[in-house]
Amino acid sequence: MKPYELTIVQALQQMDSGELSSVELTKSCLARIDDVEPELCAFITVDKDGALSQAEKADKQRAVGRAGRLCGVPLSIKDLLSTRGVKTTCGSKILANYIPPYDATVVENIKQEGGVILGKVAMDEFAMGSTSETCAFGVPRNPWKKGYVAGGSSGGSAVSVASYECPGSLGSDTGGSIRQPASLCGVVGMKPTYGRVSRYGLTAFASSLDQVGPLCRTVEDCALMMNIISGYDKRDSTSVKQDVPDFSTHLNSGVKGLKVGVPAEYFTDGLDSEVEAIVRSGIDTLKKEGAEIVEVSLPHTQYAVAAYYLIAPAEASSNLARYDGALYGYRDMEADSLLDMYRQTRSIGFGAEVKRRILIGTYALSSGYYDAYYKKASQVRTLILDDFQKSFESCDVLISPITPTAAWKIGENSDDPLPLYMSDILTLSANLAGLPGMSVPGGFTREGLPVGIQLQGPHFQEEIILKAGSCLERCLDLPAKKLDI
Ligand code: GLN
Repeated sequence: MKPYELTIVQALQQMDSGELSSVELTKSCLARIDDVEPELCAFITVDKDGALSQAEKADKQRAVGRAGRLCGVPLSIKDLLSTRGVKTTCGSKILANYIPPYDATVVENIKQEGGVILGKVAMDEFAMGSTSETCAFGVPRNPWKKGYVAGGSSGGSAVSVASYECPGSLGSDTGGSIRQPASLCGVVGMKPTYGRVSRYGLTAFASSLDQVGPLCRTVEDCALMMNIISGYDKRDSTSVKQDVPDFSTHLNSGVKGLKVGVPAEYFTDGLDSEVEAIVRSGIDTLKKEGAEIVEVSLPHTQYAVAAYYLIAPAEASSNLARYDGALYGYRDMEADSLLDMYRQTRSIGFGAEVKRRILIGTYALSSGYYDAYYKKASQVRTLILDDFQKSFESCDVLISPITPTAAWKIGENSDDPLPLYMSDILTLSANLAGLPGMSVPGGFTREGLPVGIQLQGPHFQEEIILKAGSCLERCLDLPAKKLDI
């Protein structure tokens, strides 16, 4: 096995036993990046020098017995998490040259544990999208079939992990952006409970929905990353003071007696038959392992798209008001009045999808419309949460598909945003309700494209999700397939 092929846990074992150094591992990942990046376009910035000096430091720490829990492990970071001294573009022209003076809390967490940051990865502009095609710096490609989308918005995170450029990444999930690309690229991705992980230093898209989470190749790695990034942060007012369990402890304890709910509304029209068959085989697997399968209903699922596409743009229109050319980021220098400068900066700096969201959001929040749109959508949000709470009276965890189909061709949906918005139907509810969710690889379509299985649980019950996910991973025994690179 080449060093870049190791999982996080395997790499840590080899470094602890002295078989491998962090510098060797980091160089192996950097060489892999050099090899595949021209075809895949996962990275916006590769910080070679920074990574190598962090790796040297990690080796020294290990030598004196001061290795942190991620000591020497190279990772990629979605380009909307602040990294001190390293460009953070949010996939947007408007921040093309922005270098933050501070680290996001999660980045700080990783550095404190000795993690090595290889660079920043591609994403839909300001995390708005489901394919990563709205990224201003190139479109990441699905490593299983290069003409296909990687999913989004954390497409670069998923591609970097799936294609062995690094063993783990941090992404963000506002409406599915960790789980969906994880599913389309065949990796594990977890969206934690809202408030579990600090949002400090995560560029805000829709503040009441955004959460940071890990993408890795195994559930075990995902649990380890969760241990490192979870916890209260006084710099994030929505962070919750809640004990953080050791997420790695119960991974292998099995699912005997676990009540697994199957929400009828997630298996309706529009669900591809191959995707359905893969998820059904996941359900059978859990049953064989001793779980009890129960039918549940989430009747307001059908309103999730409408509610989300009001709430998210409304919050985004307000969050993105700060990019006006005055404080940081791109500024149009041709304008001859202040107002023109604002107008020109935003017209040139933002892409079409971001502008569309700002328009929808500003309209929805404008005087006279607030009650009809934002308030109504917030009421629907409560009904969606109520549905989940009712369903968790009869089950411990929910199992379902993540997306109605496997990955599609790049460019296929770029003219009309509606089919893309609709394809988020199975992931948005968890964000509206603040619940944790995960994507675990479930199988492959006949065309060779990966399909994930979604697990969702009650607030702060990531442990149950990880346990069920780990069981699926062990028992499904997926065939070894070759990447298209
Ligand atoms: N696809 C959704 C959107 O475009 C979700 C994005 C996300 O989770 N960041 O808003």
